[in-house]
Amino acid sequence: MTAVDVERLRLIDHHCHGVVRADLDMAGFENLITESSDPAPAGTSRFDSPLGLAVRRWCAPVLGLEPFPSPDEYVARRAELGGDEVARSFLKEAGLGALLLDTGYRSEELHDLKAMGRLAGVPVHEIIRLEAVAEAVAASGVDASSYPNAYRETLEQSSREAVGLKTIVAYRGGFSFDPGEPTDDEVVRAAGTFLDAAASGHRRLADPVLLRFGIWSGARLARERGLPIQFHSGWGDADLDLHLSNPTLLTGLIRQLDRLGVNVVFLHCYPFHRDAAYLSSVYGNVYFDVGSALHYHGPSSARLLAEAMEVAPFSKLLFSSDTFGLAEQNHLGAMLFRRALRAVLDGWIEADDCDANTAGRIAEGIARGNALRIYPLP
Ligand SMILES: [Zn+2]
Repeated sequence: MTAVDVERLRLIDHHCHGVVRADLDMAGFENLITESSDPAPAGTSRFDSPLGLAVRRWCAPVLGLEPFPSPDEYVARRAELGGDEVARSFLKEAGLGALLLDTGYRSEELHDLKAMGRLAGVPVHEIIRLEAVAEAVAASGVDASSYPNAYRETLEQSSREAVGLKTIVAYRGGFSFDPGEPTDDEVVRAAGTFLDAAASGHRRLADPVLLRFGIWSGARLARERGLPIQFHSGWGDADLDLHLSNPTLLTGLIRQLDRLGVNVVFLHCYPFHRDAAYLSSVYGNVYFDVGSALHYHGPSSARLLAEAMEVAPFSKLLFSSDTFGLAEQNHLGAMLFRRALRAVLDGWIEADDCDANTAGRIAEGIARGNALRIYPLP
């Protein structure tokens, strides 16, 4: 019997991607339990990691296996059941209230909003990526002079049903940019080069003026519609220059968005989760999570969440699984989150730092209440 009942809380997973549509072989599965694009050292396995260990311990029983099967047994059992059946089992196990889905990355490989809704049996809402909108505008063949209006209109239309916006500027040069809003003239000048490159097949948006323009267009729309803007921060794949994704580098922009009343949500943050926690304690518009860093921590996940909770106001931390491809991550994200939250709060109660009622309120906020407050969920 634990003092804080986190099992009954239906989690709002405020940042995740779809699960893969294909059934996976060993290589396909191993690719989704790492952020690395390099091969594992010869003779070793991706399962030899905190996340791989957590899969063998905590996911195997959901698929009817004893804990700690060999990697081959695990992947074979998965293939035997089929990807969709596996996904349904893990999503059910996760005890979710809703999913907020980022549809802007490798979406052709993943189940879409509707399919995720069917698999999860809970409402699924969309988050729109600001950079994906720019890449879609480039594909539509506009010229540079009409780019600013085309971008704003496309963003407006594509996010009509969305509950939030997201930027991956962390992956496109990082956070140490001039936070000011560019003029349309500057945007038109920058758009020329971007659109020329796009016409020859290079549509990846990396121009700093256009990235900033996307964020500012997003901020204007966010203000109008009461949407938060998610910023990928910290923990990610090899495409990231990690030191440039420290959320404190964005302090100038945070202040400007605070004045506009636009909420900023930093995703993942590790190893800058303490920096993010500090920002959330100082700026009214800053929220954060530890996202996929939680399941990548496996056995150490309780310590990570404890660090995230050191100084953050209880109203500022959110839950996400950042599932990408594997429903195992939905399950592990939820399970490790509940376990960590219980460990932290039970510890506070035991030390007589907190009473059970307050602990229950804190848990409810982090698990779902904070997300319900800042996202316009229907
Ligand atoms: Zn993500």
